[in-house]
Amino acid sequence: METTDSFQIVVIGAGVIGLTVAEELAASFRNVLVVEKNTGFGQETSSRNSEVIHAGIYYPAGSLKSIFCTEGNRLLYEICNKRQIPNKRLGKLIVATNEEECRALKELREQAYQNGVMDLARLGKKQVSVLEPEIKAVEALFSPSTGIIDTHSLMRSFLLTAEERGITAAFRSCVTAVRFDGNGYDVDINGGEYRFRTRILINCAGLHSDKVAALAGIDIDELGYRLKYCKGSYFTLSPAPRLRHLVYPAPVKNNEGLGIHATLDLNNRVRFGPDSEYVKELEYSVDESQKSYFYQAIKKYLPSIAPEALYPDMSGIRPKLQGPGEPFRDFVIREEKYLGYPGLINLIGIESPGLTSCIAIGKHVSSLVEKALQ
Ligand SMILES: Cc1cc2nc3c(=O)[nH]c(=O)nc-3n(C[C@H](O)[C@H](O)[C@H](O)COP(=O)(O)OP(=O)(O)OC[C@H]3O[C@@H](n4cnc5c(N)ncnc54)[C@H](O)[C@@H]3O)c2cc1C
Repeated sequence: METTDSFQIVVIGAGVIGLTVAEELAASFRNVLVVEKNTGFGQETSSRNSEVIHAGIYYPAGSLKSIFCTEGNRLLYEICNKRQIPNKRLGKLIVATNEEECRALKELREQAYQNGVMDLARLGKKQVSVLEPEIKAVEALFSPSTGIIDTHSLMRSFLLTAEERGITAAFRSCVTAVRFDGNGYDVDINGGEYRFRTRILINCAGLHSDKVAALAGIDIDELGYRLKYCKGSYFTLSPAPRLRHLVYPAPVKNNEGLGIHATLDLNNRVRFGPDSEYVKELEYSVDESQKSYFYQAIKKYLPSIAPEALYPDMSGIRPKLQGPGEPFRDFVIREEKYLGYPGLINLIGIESPGLTSCIAIGKHVSSLVEKALQ
C-alpha cells in the first residue's frame, strides 16, 4: 500500500557514516528518518575493513581525508572512553627494510608533520626488535595514536543514541527513485512500495552512493562521481605470530592502499592485508591463488612466516573515485545547491580513513544541514 509521509531530513544508508550523521543530526533536528536496504545496520563496507583508528599520517595536507582523520582519531577515542566501546590504542610500526624504504619513511614523517601528526617516533633496528622480536626492519616509525576499534559496537551505539533522540530507522528499505520538484525530494522505496517526501536528502550509500546521486538526476560522469570498486582481501596466519602492535610496510606509491600490513583484532587475532585489485562486481570471495603474493609481501618484514600457514580470510571493497594509477582523490562531501539540488548532500568515495573520520564527517554534515535549512 502506498503512503506519502513527510520528513525534514532523510539519511540513505546505515553504515558507520549514515549512523554517525544520524546521531549528530538527532542532537539538533526533529523528524529525521534513516533508510537502509539491508536487514540490519553495517552489513557492507563498515563490517569489511581493518577496524584501524588511523592517526592521519598519509593523506595530503589540507585534504578532507587528512583533516577529518586527525580530528576523527581524537573524537573516536573520546567516544570510546565515554561509552565503553571496545578499543585498544595498540600503536603501529611502519617498517623500512631497505634504503629506499627508509627514504619513504622520511617523506612520510614530513607528511605527518604537515598534517599535524606530531607524535611519530623514529626507531632504530634494535628498538624495533625490542618492541617486536619477530619483525625485521632497518628502521621504523612508531605511531602511538593508531589503534583498533570494535566497529559493530560503535555503530550500535550511534544507532541507539539516534533512536533515543527520536530518529526512526527503516530497514529493508531500498531507495529506488528520487525526484526533485524545486521544494523537496520525493523518494520511492522498494520500487514504489512506500513513498515519502523530504526537505533534506543525505546520500551515505557507500558503494552505491554514485548510483543514488544519479537517481536524483546528477550526471556522475561529468562530475567525476562514478565509483570504481577496489577489492581488498585478507589472509590469516595460523599459528599466529606474536605481534603486539600493528605493523605496516613503508608505503607503496600506487595510491591504492597502505601495503599488506598486519592488523590485530580485539581478540589478538592477526590478519594480513588488504591487497588491492580493481573489480567490476561486488563479490567478496578471497582468491586463494594470491597466497604467494601475500607471502612475498609479508616475508620482507616477517621472515619467519611459512607459506603453508597462510589461509584466506575475508575481503572488503573500497568505493574509490580514482581508477588504477590515477592521482589522489579526496572524499566528496557536498550540498549540491550549485548543481540545482538544494538540500541534497552527497557523500561519495568514503573509503579509508572513513571509519576513523566518521564522527568528524557527521559533525561537518550536520553543519551543512544547518546552513541548508537557514
Ligand atoms: C578493505 C578495507 C579496509 C578498510 N580499513 C579501514 C581502516 O582500517 N580504518 C578506517 O578508518 N577506514 C577503513 N576503511 C574504510 C571504511 O571501512 C569506510 O570508509 C566506511 O566503512 C564507509 O562507511 P559507509 O557508511 O560510507 O559505507 P557502508 O558501510 O557501505 O554503508 C553504506 C550503506 O548504504 C546502504 N545503501 C546503499 N544503497 C542504498 C539504497 N539505494 N537504499 C538504501 N540503502 C542503501 C548499504 O546497504 C550500506 O549499508 C576500509 C575499507 C576497506 C574496503
